[in-house]
Amino acid sequence: MTKTAFLYKSDPLRGRQWAEVFRRAAPEVDFRIWPDIGDPAEVRFLAAWVPPDDLATRFPHLEVLFSSGAGVDQFDFDALPPGLPVVRMVEPGIVRGMVEYVTHAVLDLHRDMPQYRRQQQLGEWRALPVRPAGERRIGVLGLGSLGQAVLAQLAGFGFDLAGWSRSQHRIDGVHCHGGSDGLAAFLARTDILVCLLPLTDETRGVLNRELFAHLPHGASLVHVGRGPHLVEADLLDALSTGQLADAALDVTDPEPLPAQHAFWRHPRIRLTPHIASMTQPKSAAEVVIDNLRRFHAGEPMTGLVDRQRGY
Ligand code: NDP
Repeated sequence: MTKTAFLYKSDPLRGRQWAEVFRRAAPEVDFRIWPDIGDPAEVRFLAAWVPPDDLATRFPHLEVLFSSGAGVDQFDFDALPPGLPVVRMVEPGIVRGMVEYVTHAVLDLHRDMPQYRRQQQLGEWRALPVRPAGERRIGVLGLGSLGQAVLAQLAGFGFDLAGWSRSQHRIDGVHCHGGSDGLAAFLARTDILVCLLPLTDETRGVLNRELFAHLPHGASLVHVGRGPHLVEADLLDALSTGQLADAALDVTDPEPLPAQHAFWRHPRIRLTPHIASMTQPKSAAEVVIDNLRRFHAGEPMTGLVDRQRGY
């Protein structure tokens, strides 16, 4: 009988941490780390950030493809076998990291820290009015595992919260807007906009001139989705007219940006190198082991992607 092997193809250092968890919690699984793939015919499960181009022919018995990160936009769905289940990473470590990053970015903007940093450069000692959190309207694009966790944390500060998603949601304490019809009203009441959408054909370029124009004058952006959500020239225009006051960008296109790119030294843009949150090897391996159990039991796997929708 052919053996059942799980192949890990991502950062090898983290792979060794996954291997340790598998050794302890799922010793029956033959865990392999790329490039030591052994007999490819034995590989039934693959966890990868970027799968090999010849995935379908090289691993003819593959049963599930796991993304080692939260997104699956790096996968070319057309190149994957049509019925192959694809599972994105939904694990507590990613959620915690994102909640920390966005909370920090929102508080930074809420308390006018970008302006105080600019004033310090000019040697200017000038207090701005302190606006209560209840009068600051935060809007989160994307009400998935990350968007909802971020909103739950921000609720503790007393912000006025709203969210936008494809389908209509109901979340206590959050004004929920759904679909393209709900977007304009959501934007019109958003002072700090957080993008936590997945990158799909529908969301590519969503952060554009038209969207910025619907925000109140002087709103700010926290972008932690994916670089191609943003139309760069439209952001620069919105910042130059004051339509947007500040932007915190964790993702760009490409990553990193070229050395001469305008974002690097823009006084109203804060850049971080895609570090808002990262898959934590231990909790990720535990989630994947649970998903293997679910798969074998015929139960729905956590993070199963709808390939038609693209997320
Ligand atoms: P989920 O799949 O759980 O949630 C996605 C949300 O986006 C859902 O609420 C969905 O709506 C909404 N959505 C999708 N398409 C549309 C659309 N066309 N119009 C309106 N709403 C839409 O994703 P996660 O919360 O787990 O992750 C979100 C993204 O965050 C990831 O895809 C990734 O790009 C990014 N990310 C960034 C990281 C970083 O370090 N910068 C780290 C981790 C993730 P509905 O609820 O109706 O389905």
